[in-house]
Amino acid sequence: MKIGILGNGQLGQMLEASVTDLTDLDISLYDLRAHSDEALEAFIAANDLISYETENIPAHIVAVLEGHADKLAPGLNALKVFQNRLLEKNALRAAGIATADFCAVNSLADVKAAVEQLGLPIVLKTTTEGYDGKGQFVLRSPDDAEPAWQAIGGRELIAEAFVTFSRETSVIASRSADGKVVIWPMTENVHHEGILRYSLYPCAGLSDAKAEQARTYITDLANSLNYVGTITLELFDTETGLVANEVAPRVHNSGHWSIEGAEASQFRNHMLAISGKPLGATDALYPAVAMLNVIGDETPTSAAAGLDGVYVHSYGKEARPARKLGHVTVTAQTVAERDASITKLAGLMPAGVWNQ
Ligand code: AMP
Repeated sequence: MKIGILGNGQLGQMLEASVTDLTDLDISLYDLRAHSDEALEAFIAANDLISYETENIPAHIVAVLEGHADKLAPGLNALKVFQNRLLEKNALRAAGIATADFCAVNSLADVKAAVEQLGLPIVLKTTTEGYDGKGQFVLRSPDDAEPAWQAIGGRELIAEAFVTFSRETSVIASRSADGKVVIWPMTENVHHEGILRYSLYPCAGLSDAKAEQARTYITDLANSLNYVGTITLELFDTETGLVANEVAPRVHNSGHWSIEGAEASQFRNHMLAISGKPLGATDALYPAVAMLNVIGDETPTSAAAGLDGVYVHSYGKEARPARKLGHVTVTAQTVAERDASITKLAGLMPAGVWNQ
């Protein structure tokens, strides 16, 4: 079976690498940045199935995909819904999943109305193309309305009530075409300047009730869209339960730990799901695992050399500020052992980000 993946970044590369032993799957990656309609049509024609490593696919490329919806997995509907934060929030609500209160914003008057409706603070976000905290503005006073609209307005925005949370988590699942859902254990995710810096398994102190809530959420969401492939739900951990932040219709940075840390990785199960093969088990292989991102140029991965149970992934990209260049997975027999290894690797992160 020939599978084409839109996007040739690290996610596409890790998807490809996850099934190199499955010789009946022939994977190729399409460089979205070098797009032409003719090249994409030829790529689609040359493959039996098309998947994608990112939901940030420009509208003119989505328009080409419209003509080949039967080849796309996950489906066109999932791609369109999770490209747009308003559609995404509506889909979450429709699946019975708790989210921040929100409203659409298309003008400065709408920003002011949102402040009235939702109270302060509110988080204003562009509905499309925002990632890693880009295209966002937190309003703390009514006087922030004009600067916020100046900064990111002039296009469709979403205003969200500010969620008070103790930490951020995520839950990742893969769903097969026949409706089977497998779910990885959750991670706690720590961000700095809007970018994920590290993820920890297990998600310390998470109650059974919240873990069950997350499993129900991701299962209901995937089923509601008849989703096929790997899907990620980012969640705020709050006093009253988990609140959904956003969805990625794809493998996610917070699931990279599963390559070495789980029986089947998020990448492999995505490929198995879309190609109609039985899904692998998602159990963790170690009592404690961590994933540390290598970002910008501050971070020589040689720090990881010689550490037991530590695996370095380099994406082969040129260093640039805020760019994800690679990641390091730490596996350990105890949380204390894992945390001792992270402490040795703390130089991979900006000062103060790891302070345990
Ligand atoms: P996002 O791009 O939506 O994941 O937002 C980036 C980061 O902003 C999140 O990881 C949160 O730390 C923060 N954030 C986003 N939305 C909210 C919200 N409604 N309330 C509080 N913090 C938020």
